[in-house]
Amino acid sequence: MIPPGETIGILGGGQLGRMLAVAAAQLGYRCHIYAPEADSGAADVAAQFTCAPWDDAAAMARFAHDCAVITYEFENVPVGPLAAVGEVPLRPHPRALETAQDRLAEKRFVSELGGTPAPYAPVDSADDLAAALREIGTPGILKTRRDGYDGKGQWRIGSAAEAAALDVPDVPMVYEGFVDFFAEFSVILARGTDGSLAFYDSARNRHEDGILAHSSLPAPAAVMAQVPAARELAAQVAQGLGYVGVLTLEFFATEAGPVFNEMAPRVHNSGHWTIEGATISQFENHIRAICGLPLGETGLVAPGVEMRNLIGEDVADWQALLADPANHLHLYGKADIRPGRKMGHLTRLTA
Ligand code: AMP
Repeated sequence: MIPPGETIGILGGGQLGRMLAVAAAQLGYRCHIYAPEADSGAADVAAQFTCAPWDDAAAMARFAHDCAVITYEFENVPVGPLAAVGEVPLRPHPRALETAQDRLAEKRFVSELGGTPAPYAPVDSADDLAAALREIGTPGILKTRRDGYDGKGQWRIGSAAEAAALDVPDVPMVYEGFVDFFAEFSVILARGTDGSLAFYDSARNRHEDGILAHSSLPAPAAVMAQVPAARELAAQVAQGLGYVGVLTLEFFATEAGPVFNEMAPRVHNSGHWTIEGATISQFENHIRAICGLPLGETGLVAPGVEMRNLIGEDVADWQALLADPANHLHLYGKADIRPGRKMGHLTRLTA
């Protein structure tokens, strides 16, 4: 058990790190953020900040020196440089990062556990793409295996002719058949160092332009009916990875059952509602899990919850949003408003 007063290292400097650091502070921990970008919403609320490239082994070792445990708020942290942390425990284990960083590896891993991803094929060349289109058909989506997020690194393909005209970077990709879903939902769980598991209610998620726009609870009955099978898979993923912390799996709800989309070895945007909407938030439960503390209750504190992301210019309305006294407004302290950038979110408990 890591007692309050100790320092938690967080790799990544964005809003997830910011909300983790707030939860950690509430439990009496200090946070040390490590991020390559100087402009860090997480560092603004943390005790210490190391701004250095991921592969700066000396900076990584210095950072790790005073940390009792190290975690991530960003899943694309390169795994190699983490060797510099020495004996300090990394939670979750970097094998979870390795699996989730690569869309092909995560699909294979989940398939081996009996999960169902969209039909997929690896694409490393134009010939591979032609073969994938023949095998899987169109429409589909070509995605980079690594470094994609919020719909970036993705190309929708409606026909073979469209594929031929594509100008895509020469990096490993995966082609996925387009899934005919009626809803999207996520399973968020916390797993303790003793293997204990706690699941949050599954939100129905709505994406716009590949970016999460809304999460609402309770999810419709047709989605709820798919949650047990999705949880079963998520539990197996967590167990298979020896996972400690909060883990998220995203699913498509289809007439044939839940189809796995992707996983994130971290707290997740579709769980932001848990700050006000659950007894103990995903952020606090992540901190509890990585520190070896007992997990907190995950249940809803109201009949329903709505979470809306404030993306780009949406944030300009922040004052109007405060005019409704029931709105919980979260702003991430980002100075530059850019289209598609997550600037904050809004949560409302509903009757
Ligand atoms: P991703 O970054 O892979 O989660 O993709 C972002 C969003 O694009 C998803 O949440 C879906 O709304 C949509 N999407 C991604 N892959 C597929 C797919 N194979 N079929 C249908 N929609 C998809």
